[in-house]
Amino acid sequence: VRQFNQPIAQIASISNTLQLTAAATERVFAIIDEEEEIKDDGNALSVAETTYEVNGQHVYVEGAVDFEAVNFGYNPDKTIINNFTTHVNPGQKVAIVGPTGAGKSTVIKLLMRFYDVNSGAIKIDDINIQDFKREELRKLFGIVLQDTWLFNGTIRENIRYGNLEASDAEVEQAARDAQVDHFIKTWPNGYDMVLNEETSNVSQGQKQLLTIARAILSDPKILILDEATSNVDTRTEILIQKAMDTLMEGRTSFVIAHRLSTIRNADLILVMKDGDIIEQGSHDELIAEQGFYKGLYESQFDDVE
Ligand code: ADP
Repeated sequence: VRQFNQPIAQIASISNTLQLTAAATERVFAIIDEEEEIKDDGNALSVAETTYEVNGQHVYVEGAVDFEAVNFGYNPDKTIINNFTTHVNPGQKVAIVGPTGAGKSTVIKLLMRFYDVNSGAIKIDDINIQDFKREELRKLFGIVLQDTWLFNGTIRENIRYGNLEASDAEVEQAARDAQVDHFIKTWPNGYDMVLNEETSNVSQGQKQLLTIARAILSDPKILILDEATSNVDTRTEILIQKAMDTLMEGRTSFVIAHRLSTIRNADLILVMKDGDIIEQGSHDELIAEQGFYKGLYESQFDDVE
């Protein structure tokens, strides 16, 4: 069976909160899903790669996302997301920008249903995310975060984690698409090099590329990217951007964005401040609004172009 899920530890690193939530939901989901999973054992394995289970039906998902009048607060006395509505077409790139604590991870957590909205709805292809079988909803998402999650094992195993059924050729193709193949070939034992705490010849940037290769292999419908502003050299930075572009191609993508180029190229920018989405639109639209985004744009974004 195809493995879409990222390790829970990787999902977790968006924040400590998310880590706790993710671990807890993972356990809860496991219990809730157990019975159902036994029932549909042996069922529709061949279509499971391209469809997702919703209310007992297998549906094909294109990747449109709607937030419809969404209200949410972690505590009843403080609303974080206030009557938020937006529409994202399949394959569009959404950049979420704003200062730390603005609520960027909260939007992602709601989309992946780590929390339920207080009112309103989040829909994927017009299906309320609450109608998806929980396990299946999580299979829709691929996640690339700042803290790369690699485990003790060979390079090949680390990439193959994205799809346990992938052949060696597919693993290597994903590595090429992620711009990391030429590095791997210079390492002792290449794809069979064991990655562990003692591995000193793999840079932070190269680790990020390996994580991207894994995500490319898992072929998710919707991508969640947390763009690192880590200290990588310019050459690696360019490779990371290229790899990210390949990964995002044709997939609905939500990027917690720090790079100017990502933000400028986004189809939709969600501007967050003090836990609320205060502006949304394309770069040109938002600049024309002369609002918060314009100030943020002029003062804050790291420009690596
Ligand atoms: P960002 O990702 O933009 O840094 P977050 O979405 O993590 O922001 O946080 C938005 C707001 O919600 C912040 O004020 C934060 O303190 C608060 N917050 C985040 N997680 C929780 C939680 N589990 N419980 C209560 N408040 C939270």
